[in-house]
Amino acid sequence: MLLTEETIRRLPKVELHVHLDTSVRVQTVRKLGEEQGIELPDDLEQALIAPPICANLADYLTRVETALQVLQTTAALERVAYELVQDMAAENVIYAEIRYAPQLCIRRGLSMQQVIDAVAAGLQAARTDLGIRTGQIICCLRHDPSALSHEVAQYAIQNWAPDKVVGLDLAADEAEFGGFPHRTAFRLARGIGMPRTVHAGEAAGAESIREAIEVLGAQRLGHGVHLEEDPSLFGPVRARHITLEMCPTSNVQTRAVNSLAQHPIDRYLKLNLPVTVNTDGRTTSNTTLTQEYGKLVRQFGWGLAEIQRTVLNAASSAFIREEDRQELCRIILDRWPHP
Ligand SMILES: [Zn+2]
Repeated sequence: MLLTEETIRRLPKVELHVHLDTSVRVQTVRKLGEEQGIELPDDLEQALIAPPICANLADYLTRVETALQVLQTTAALERVAYELVQDMAAENVIYAEIRYAPQLCIRRGLSMQQVIDAVAAGLQAARTDLGIRTGQIICCLRHDPSALSHEVAQYAIQNWAPDKVVGLDLAADEAEFGGFPHRTAFRLARGIGMPRTVHAGEAAGAESIREAIEVLGAQRLGHGVHLEEDPSLFGPVRARHITLEMCPTSNVQTRAVNSLAQHPIDRYLKLNLPVTVNTDGRTTSNTTLTQEYGKLVRQFGWGLAEIQRTVLNAASSAFIREEDRQELCRIILDRWPHP
């Protein structure tokens, strides 16, 4: 019998790839717009939620702009960080890494440090109230000049601490912009041992994955959908446990794959590649982690064993200390139902 969404909701889960600015509740964007006196599109849902299939990744990314308009104050950032953890808590996510680009929230005068502190305050309040551990991943953006990425990496490093900033990412349109210009930012992080993930193999092919690993020193890959185009990458990905942060609904929306049926996640899991399941943008993709797993259950016949493997993959590649990873895995196994 297929697992029900209620059963999946109750399972302890870990989310490694979720963007703060594409996961803001629609009603919160509306409320913040009113409070801040900002005129927003009449049809907010249409502005924030991407259609089931977009033209491409760039089209999908246009949905972030409306939310960004209201994410320019510390109160707003604190609120949306808190609410995101609340939404995760409602579906039993027990650890999450939340990412965003602080350089997109400084249009009305905040400094990047104030942005990071505001998000940290929201996450800290959620941790106190809900008991869920989280960390921030700071995103450099592919279209930004390399000097700005360097500055963003410096902020990430200055705030690198357990439960605050836990890693560095490279995001945005990989079809148009290569990762090479951002190598010095990533070298900075690598030099002091700060964890790194890179969006790759989503809108671009396997060559972007090779670049992420070899040039940027990525320890995890955002999506990595196109990995199978170059099977010579399987070896290093397995050997270094380079985790694939896959986001099934989003991957269909951005046309990284033509359909869920063609999504490689099940093939990769069978090939023993370190696969994880994530939402990417809870609002933009109109999804939850429970729904992502529900789709995989229905499409590929996943059961508790497959879900547990991917949750444990996520826990064991979280950007936290090794002993904390082991503790997270232990909690998952403790709370896992025994059918
Ligand atoms: Zn992403």
